[in-house]
Amino acid sequence: MIESGSYRWRSRRPLALARKALSAAVAVCRNPSVYSAPLESVDARPLADSDPLERLETEFPMTETLGSYERDLLRGGLPVRVRGECNVCGHGAGFLLRSENFREDLVCPRCKASNRKRQVVAVLLSETGLPWQGSLARHADRLPQTIWVMETGPFAEAFDVQRLITSEYLSADHVSGRSYGGVRHEDVMAPSFRDESLDAVVSCDVFEHVPDPYAAHGKVFRCLKPGGIHVFTVPFHEHTARDEVRATVDNGVHRYHLPKIYHGDPRRAAGALVYRVFSIEMLTTLARLGYEVKLARVHSVRLAMLGANAVVFVARKPARQRTKSLDPVKKTV
Ligand SMILES: [Zn+2]
Repeated sequence: MIESGSYRWRSRRPLALARKALSAAVAVCRNPSVYSAPLESVDARPLADSDPLERLETEFPMTETLGSYERDLLRGGLPVRVRGECNVCGHGAGFLLRSENFREDLVCPRCKASNRKRQVVAVLLSETGLPWQGSLARHADRLPQTIWVMETGPFAEAFDVQRLITSEYLSADHVSGRSYGGVRHEDVMAPSFRDESLDAVVSCDVFEHVPDPYAAHGKVFRCLKPGGIHVFTVPFHEHTARDEVRATVDNGVHRYHLPKIYHGDPRRAAGALVYRVFSIEMLTTLARLGYEVKLARVHSVRLAMLGANAVVFVARKPARQRTKSLDPVKKTV
C-alpha cells in the first residue's frame, strides 16, 4: 500500500458529531414529540473505546495504530525474524526486528539499509515511474542518471547509476565537492553542484540536523534539474502546524530553545544535534520555495516495510521553472 499526495486527517469524530446533529434536526422536524427528549442525551451515551471510527490521535509516533500484522509479530516477543526482500540489495533472507521502533529497525543484514531507508527507495522508484515494489538491485539502470545521495556506505552505493554522487558532511573546515580520505564533503548550505545539474537527491534524516533547513532546501532546489526530485525523510509531527524549533544559530552562536537532543551519527561520537522537528509548516514552506510537495506512506509485508509512521516526502521542482527566480531563501549563514 502506498498512499501519496494527500494529508490524511485521521479523526472522523467531527463528521460523526455533525451527522448526529443533522439526524437529530431531521427527527425534530419529522416528530415534534422529540422536543420532550433532551438533546444532550444524544452525546451522553458512552462511546465504545474499541470503535475504530472513534479515534482522535495526536501523538507521534503512533505506535498504538500498528496494524494487525505488526501486533502479531510483537506477540511472541523480541527479537523476531521477519521475512521479506531488501529493495536495496535484493537480499531475500529476511530481517531481524529487535525493537518496536519499526522505522529504524528491520535492518538488512547485507546492505544495512533500515526500514526507513528502504521506504525512501520504494518512493524514489515510484516517483520515477518504476514499480515501487521493485529494487535498486533490479532497476538501478532505469533510474535517473545523476543522483546525489547525502550519505556514503553500502546503502548509498547501491544507487548504481552513471553519475552517483555520495557525500557526507565532515565539518565546517572542509570544502564542498572535495574528497577527504575517499569521502566527498558536501555542506547542504553550500553544495558544490552546478545549477540544474541533478536529476534526484536522496537524504535520510539529514535536514533536522541543519541549523537553517529551509535555506538548505532552497540550495537543493537550485541544484535540481526542472522536474527533478528530492526524496527524503525527517522526523515529522503530522498533527502540528508549527515546526518544533529546538535550536538555532544566530551569528555563529548556538541558541537552545528546548533541551538538546542528539541522534546517533557514525561520524560523530557525540551524535548529531537536532535543530528542528518538522510539521505541516514544512509542507507549506517547501511549496513556497517552489516545490510540488507530496507526503507518501509505505507499507509492505513483502518488503518488510512495516510500522505506522512510515512517512517519506517528495519535493519536486516543477518541470518548467526557470533558474533566475530560484533559490528564494536569503543566505543566512
Ligand atoms: Zn539489503
